[in-house]
Amino acid sequence: MSIIDILDKPIEYVKGVGPAKAKVLSEELNVKTVSDLLHIFPYRYIDRTEFAHISTSNSEGDLIQLKGRITDVQVLKGKNKRSRLVASFKDASGFMELIWFQSVKVMTEIIKLDEEYIVFGKLSIYNRQKSMIHPEIQLASEVNERFVNTLEPVYSSSEKLEKANLDNRWRRSILKIILKSTSETSIPEILSNDIITKLKLCSRSQALHWIHFPENNLQRDYASNRLKFEEAFFMQLRLLRNKAIRQLKIKGHVFSKVGDYFNEFYTKHLKFELTSAQKSVIKEIRADMGSGIQMNRLLQGDVGSGKTIVALLIMLLSKDNGFQSCMMAPTEILAQQHFEGISDELSQLDLKIAFLSGSVKGKKRKDILAAVASGEVDILIGTHALIEEHVIFKNLGLAIIDEQHRFGVMQRSQLWKKSGSIPPHILVMTATPIPRTLAMTIHGELDVSKIDELPPGRKSIKTIHLYESKRPGLLNFIKEQIKEGRQIYVVYPLIEESEKLELQSLQEGYERLLPYFPPPEYQISIVHGRMKAEDKEFEMQRFVRGQTHIMIATTVIEVGVNVPNASVMIIENAERFGLSQLHQLRGRVGRGASQSFCVMMSSYKLSADGKERLSTMVRTNDGFEIAEADLRLRGPGSIEGTQQSGIPDLKILNLVQDEPILRTARHLASTILEQDPNLEDKKHIPIYNQFKKISRKNKNWGRIS
Ligand code: ADP
Ligand code: MG
Repeated sequence: MSIIDILDKPIEYVKGVGPAKAKVLSEELNVKTVSDLLHIFPYRYIDRTEFAHISTSNSEGDLIQLKGRITDVQVLKGKNKRSRLVASFKDASGFMELIWFQSVKVMTEIIKLDEEYIVFGKLSIYNRQKSMIHPEIQLASEVNERFVNTLEPVYSSSEKLEKANLDNRWRRSILKIILKSTSETSIPEILSNDIITKLKLCSRSQALHWIHFPENNLQRDYASNRLKFEEAFFMQLRLLRNKAIRQLKIKGHVFSKVGDYFNEFYTKHLKFELTSAQKSVIKEIRADMGSGIQMNRLLQGDVGSGKTIVALLIMLLSKDNGFQSCMMAPTEILAQQHFEGISDELSQLDLKIAFLSGSVKGKKRKDILAAVASGEVDILIGTHALIEEHVIFKNLGLAIIDEQHRFGVMQRSQLWKKSGSIPPHILVMTATPIPRTLAMTIHGELDVSKIDELPPGRKSIKTIHLYESKRPGLLNFIKEQIKEGRQIYVVYPLIEESEKLELQSLQEGYERLLPYFPPPEYQISIVHGRMKAEDKEFEMQRFVRGQTHIMIATTVIEVGVNVPNASVMIIENAERFGLSQLHQLRGRVGRGASQSFCVMMSSYKLSADGKERLSTMVRTNDGFEIAEADLRLRGPGSIEGTQQSGIPDLKILNLVQDEPILRTARHLASTILEQDPNLEDKKHIPIYNQFKKISRKNKNWGRIS
């Protein structure tokens, strides 16, 4: 068999596998080849060299390995008639219970009394009584000789795998067979010698042996370091190369001049001095739009940092260069606000600005579409109605998308097709800061600009966390604020499992407030997801216009609404919200001149994560710090935007902990591509081959914009 064939060999043909097992492996683990199986790494190791002692193991939750005997087993019935198996386990130092709630019958039959067992599991301590629930147990006599003095790999498993007898023990034996039949030459190297020497990495073959069967921690660390780097390197290589290809291929309109529209607005009508962050972002965007290559830029700026004015100014640049532009927002109300705000700002200029959303119908819609197609409309503002097929521009030069995380990749790419052969420049604006490591992966193909300073004179929002007992004080505080002319938000979490519960909590909140804020002196708006769009809109508008004092809502108000007069954000059941959501909600206040407040109400029962989320909010107003904390708490998969971003399932790299590795990998990948963009150099052949192989596997993993 030739060299490459060993890794590409279908798993079915490995001794001890066969078609039936191969089928289960494919279904459960997506394993089709030897290489696939080798690249599912252990999620932990059992240190077979170390045994703890019952008497000296005192920290609850520790994973420990013990050696001892089971002296007695009993099946007990609980209150709910569920039976459980309790085994008395003794080592030389003491005694504990091993408990099973599941597989009680099977375990009763399997367990042998007075034989030596090796037991592994999580230590629980309750009333000083030590126990382990569902431990892994193995007869000491059955523990393979070869595993003694090594770290034994543990792979995540599933019920189906266990049922088909493809458990960890089986997996280890198959991996042994595979690895025994491979040697240094049959697992070819895929990195260049330069890289390996420079970073002092072990070889690929060595890494694959050691990651599964390390003899000590050092070997394991070597292996995981090498494999992590490899994963990061090829990911970055791919992202950077796609970006380069796109830049070569995709021409953009050239906005060469700064003309009268921009200049007149900038010198005569701009109501404030731009912050230096805003200025430098505009400079970056101008450079992009003048380059002849299509711009694909992400503009990050915390809530209130002033992204809209940047959008407005570059739309004027588009006009100056003879092009139309459009701006798309995720909700009707936000789009409407942009339309009104921008129309107002630009009222002195000779420009045609139009609004389009699903609610614009009939003749009005027809007229607008015609004016957009004829080029009469200079700036079109609206909702995702803008990307519908029948919206055709005469010459769209720039498309701006506000609050990008609400739009899917597909929706965004629709914009590309809106006018002629050259796609418009695209600017995506978001207030959800993306942690650095994620920005390097999700947005590897987008250029990123940041507005990292707030306009001067903003008072930072005071944030507090209160428990229920403090509610009376809160009510007084609301009253004072209303007396001073301010408006108040009260937000309840969306309860997806039960709209009924959600309405109920909203309703209860309303009824609780009513006696303190009786009409007609006080007016309260209610907005929730179950209302018709028009009713929602109506209630929102009442609040926006200052006709109501309090707005009780679910998270429908989360994105972008601008009511500068609102100074208090009360978040009910705050522990139910994610960090980025809390931060977004807080951003609804603090938009005017007065001191604003964010009050997070919670029950006394808080999970550790919940506590950390709330204390993070109290500690900082910095969106980036919050995003980093969010990533740490939830992991990258759950960050908004990542599902659709095409980050491949990572096998070993951890985007949070492995930032330094990711950085190095990115740097090296970009250096290599600079010197050898098509990876044609002889020393890059292995890299090129692997790159092609991965590309074939992830065809749809490319373009984002
Ligand atoms: P966001 O980035 O959240 O979209 P906006 O663009 O809505 O923020 O801006 C928030 C508020 O700050 C607006 O009222 C806007 O007019 C104001 N603003 C923006 N830039 C400046 C600036 N440089 N100086 C003073 N106020 C500004
Ligand atoms: Mg905004």
